[in-house]
Amino acid sequence: MNIHEYQAKAIFKQFGVPVNPGVAVLSVDEAEAAAKSLPGPLWVVKSQIHAGGRGKGKFKEADAGEKGGVRLARSADEAAAFVRQMFGKTLVTVQTGPAGKQVNRMYIESGSDIEKELYLSILVDRATSRVAFVASTEGGMDIEEVAHSTPEKIVTFSIDPATGFMPHHGRTLAKALNLSGNAAKQIGPVASKLYDAFVGTDMAMLEVNPLIVTPAGDVVALDGKVSFDSNSLYRHPEIVALRDVTEEDDKEIEASKYDLAYIALEGTIGCMVNGAGLAMATLDIIKLYGEEPANFLDVGGGATEEKVTAAFKIITADPNVKGILVNIFGGIMKCDVIARGVLAAVKAVGLQVPLVVRLEGTNVELGKQIIAESGLNVLAADDLDDAAQKIVAAVRAK
Ligand code: GDP
Ligand code: MG
Repeated sequence: MNIHEYQAKAIFKQFGVPVNPGVAVLSVDEAEAAAKSLPGPLWVVKSQIHAGGRGKGKFKEADAGEKGGVRLARSADEAAAFVRQMFGKTLVTVQTGPAGKQVNRMYIESGSDIEKELYLSILVDRATSRVAFVASTEGGMDIEEVAHSTPEKIVTFSIDPATGFMPHHGRTLAKALNLSGNAAKQIGPVASKLYDAFVGTDMAMLEVNPLIVTPAGDVVALDGKVSFDSNSLYRHPEIVALRDVTEEDDKEIEASKYDLAYIALEGTIGCMVNGAGLAMATLDIIKLYGEEPANFLDVGGGATEEKVTAAFKIITADPNVKGILVNIFGGIMKCDVIARGVLAAVKAVGLQVPLVVRLEGTNVELGKQIIAESGLNVLAADDLDDAAQKIVAAVRAK
């Protein structure tokens, strides 16, 4: 689960990480009062969307102005004017995709003078099974380019969960980030508090870019992007309360109600599969035969008829879907049960596009027979290859 920058910064603050004072603006009317409540002389007006690259982003609407989604203002009036310009407009960044995201919340922050822009992130490194830090002197808006062309400027190390963050990690960071004086003293404690926030709220990823050094040598988190491990949300109701569903795909929200793992993609072939590995293989093979999947959808091991129906509704609600591929391995679940579920779903939802069903596993013959005798326009497939070729051909024939 993702949250907005201003929410991430509120968490940072709770854990003692230095951030600048700021006020969230949830409607245009609040702009003036919010800007005036901050002392100046510099205000930063920041579009709040669940995507990075806002500074370099561009608005679709001409009246949102030429500057990006993060703007520096020299007076409270100018800050309020920036809010009015950007609010409700569609911001396109490298991370939003071409459709962009509508800005429905903004954040006004007291601005800092910047001596240095650093990069710091924390993530779960599956290779070492540990929490890892990633740091670079080259913070700011071009970190992807740095990772690509000068990877040696990025330093990583992991934390032993038995000891947690140690003073030597702070010294490693100070050296890696080329810090001296005040900043060198502060970086360890700041990173240690970020680590506490990460572990304490079960984050999956935390990125501060830029983490700045001010002319006085203070270290401050100027940006904050975090996501949480959804498997642990049950123990963080205060985090769940931060969810902004307007930032999420409608179909993904619907899927989460039925405990379906669904991710919308850009292609034309809707997929319903059980098991994440099989789902990945299904996407791969569709691409191999030259078409693009419209979604990833794992109905899980114990898919009931109700779940299968919900999955069908979600897939068919996507106007891009020109065909559907059902690829189920009947292990614990039997193929005949799945076949009946699929047919019930087709009857309930209606079917405007070709459907290919590939079943394998327990009671596979019976499952295929049920589909063959259903009288519905469902194509049965023998294996994954056959299934992918059939659905690709069906979609192209339309
Ligand atoms: P992003 O583009 O979505 O990553 O948004 P950021 O929060 O990182 O803001 C973009 C850029 O705006 C930063 O990299 C900074 O260069 C600049 N910026 C943000 N806050 C301040 C500030 O307080 N003072 C100054 N001078 N620049 C800022
Ligand atoms: Mg940033």
